[in-house]
Amino acid sequence: MINIISINLKFGLLFPRQTTRRILIHHSASPDVSAATIHSWHLQKGWSGIGYHYVIRSEGSVEAGRKVEMVGAHAGPEVNWDSIGICLAGNFMEYAPTTAQLFALVQLVAYLRDIYQTDLEVLRHKDVAATECPGDCFPWPEKKLASILPYKRRK
Ligand SMILES: [Zn+2]
Repeated sequence: MINIISINLKFGLLFPRQTTRRILIHHSASPDVSAATIHSWHLQKGWSGIGYHYVIRSEGSVEAGRKVEMVGAHAGPEVNWDSIGICLAGNFMEYAPTTAQLFALVQLVAYLRDIYQTDLEVLRHKDVAATECPGDCFPWPEKKLASILPYKRRK
């Protein structure tokens, strides 16, 4: 069972997502940071609020961001419409995510696949856009993640 910490973030206009077929992994490219702090950063950019649906802190706790049923703002308009954005807090250009974070990620992916009743594909932000996100130290390919963790993936 996964524990998702939810605080009352106030959002501007959001739109329901009609299609959900993948999960995109991000890093915050910053020190460990809360969903509330990222929310304030994204509001300052003039967005409707935090663009990610979840933030995973370095000690492994999962914080809710934008409501999961709404279109996110995390990987560009071509992919936001059909994807869920998960941000792991930290700068993985400099160091790797913690094992606790990776465990939480796998639990969260399993939880979302359960909710959506489909084997949602998991990709890194850099797999769909020209970016370094989630950083060179993020364990990938998925085989590498799987060697650390129990990990299920569609063929
Ligand atoms: Zn990203």
